[in-house]
Amino acid sequence: MKYLPIHYYGDPVLRKKGEPIEKITPEIVAFAEDLVKAMIHYNGVGLAAPQVGKLLRIYVFRDEWLDEEGKYQLGEPNIVINPILSDPSKETESMLEGCLSLPKLHVPVTRPKKIHIRYQNLKGEFIEKDLIGFLARVNMHENDHLNGVLHIDRATPKDRKAIEPELQRIKKQYCNV
Ligand code: ZN
Repeated sequence: MKYLPIHYYGDPVLRKKGEPIEKITPEIVAFAEDLVKAMIHYNGVGLAAPQVGKLLRIYVFRDEWLDEEGKYQLGEPNIVINPILSDPSKETESMLEGCLSLPKLHVPVTRPKKIHIRYQNLKGEFIEKDLIGFLARVNMHENDHLNGVLHIDRATPKDRKAIEPELQRIKKQYCNV
């Protein structure tokens, strides 16, 4: 089984904007399924098209929570096409975020606690939801990828400075562009 290859920090494709998906063709359906398979294979909770080198407005994600025994549980994969985020809550929270394009790096990121999302599913149906907590965060993180934005861009200047050597390590170790 071959999986979509991840593009790593330092690759200019991560800084480009994804194009809206005009029509959900069989190719798009197949690509969405490949994205889901790759997210699961790489053990991620989210994966956006630019991270596999495709500049399209689509990402996949899954919920994650701690169960009563303190073990991480993962939810079913979701596919999000052409998302529009709106109405961020004034209330924010800070949490450590990771990213498949920046292996083994976790950085505190402050984001709104709640957000509204409108997107299309694989059938092209429009769906609207109010997201809170982890689900809001993962959707904001993945939506950022569609705009060429990385979680490290949202770190405080102090944290960003502190992780600079790590960023250089990632570039050297993983990025082959
Ligand atoms: Zn990411």
